[in-house]
Amino acid sequence: MTHFITSKCNNCGQCQKVCAVECIVKGNSQSFIDPSTCIDCGACASECPYSAIQDKATPDTQIDFNKNAEFFSVGSGYKNQK
Ligand code: SF4
Ligand code: SF4
Repeated sequence: MTHFITSKCNNCGQCQKVCAVECIVKGNSQSFIDPSTCIDCGACASECPYSAIQDKATPDTQIDFNKNAEFFSVGSGYKNQK
C-alpha cells in the first residue's frame, strides 16, 4: 500500500512541494496521491499540517485509499495534467 490522502485534507498544496516524483494532484475538494507513481518515501506525510496523509488503511480510511486510486484511474487527475 502506498501513501494516500484522507478527507482531512484541505488542499493547501504543501505536500505537492516536497514530492520528488510529482504524484500528488489537487482535486476539487482535496488532493490525491497516484498509487502507481508514489515511491513511498514518506516526505509528504511529515509536511501535512492536518495529518491527512496515511500509509496504512484502517476500516475508517480504506474508502479514502480507494478514492485516491479512483481519482487517477478515471482520468480526472494525473492524466489531465500531462
Ligand atoms: S499538505 Fe495535507 S492538507 Fe495540504 S494538500 Fe497535502 S494532504 Fe492536503
Ligand atoms: S510518499 Fe513520497 S512519493 Fe509518495 S506521495 Fe508522498 S512525497 Fe510523493
